Amino acid sequence: MQGRLIVISGFSGTGKGTIVQRLLQDYDNYCLSVSRTTRQPREGEVDGVHYIFTTDEEFNRLIDEDGFVEYAGYVGNYYGTPKDFVEENLQKGKSVLLEIEMQGALKIKEKYPDAFLIFVLPPSFKELRRRLVERGTEEQSVIERRLERAREEIRYMEYYDYYLVNDDLEECVKKLHHKIMSGC
Ligand code: ADP
Ligand code: 5GP
Repeated sequence: MQGRLIVISGFSGTGKGTIVQRLLQDYDNYCLSVSRTTRQPREGEVDGVHYIFTTDEEFNRLIDEDGFVEYAGYVGNYYGTPKDFVEENLQKGKSVLLEIEMQGALKIKEKYPDAFLIFVLPPSFKELRRRLVERGTEEQSVIERRLERAREEIRYMEYYDYYLVNDDLEECVKKLHHKIMSGC
């Protein structure tokens, strides 16, 4: 049985990474596609686990070799989903999680019309800012650029299949899993 692509997008700081980690921990039918990025690692990020950290040259070479199912620019860096991993795991029947931004999500929907597109929302914009500041991984100017980007990203919401408000984490993870299991 062919697996399914599950795309998780949302504004920076909304809790996508946290939700994805919980799905992987709590259930055994998921696998996560580890993206390539040209961004610098944050403190604590491990190469090959959080991202495959990649030079601009290598990223461009992979674009030329058709090594990505999608890629996009985001606030000064490039991010891409490796093709091999996705294809192999879909063939194994896995639910493959892609935690990617909106331009990439739309490309996925074009290539894989069966993909399920989830948009994670914060309970409020104020809480979004609070989470970004509290995470403490970006300096203030980058946080402002990410919040600015969030305002632009609102217009992509209409292309998504399902909206999920990440208020109470436990409830949110359970609700999402049941939605995916129900065939969406
Ligand atoms: P994203 O991957 O969307 O950028 P993260 O998963 O890194 O976001 O979450 C941003 C911050 O918000 C982290 O510090 C995380 O611990 C916190 N967070 C995530 N979900 C919740 C929640 N439901 N309630 C409160 N804080 C949350
Ligand atoms: P961050 O720098 O916070 O890790 O990620 C920035 C944004 O890039 C997030 O919205 C994240 O979902 C997105 N992203 C991560 N990997 C990919 C990818 O492979 N493709 C695309 N299009 N976006 C990605």
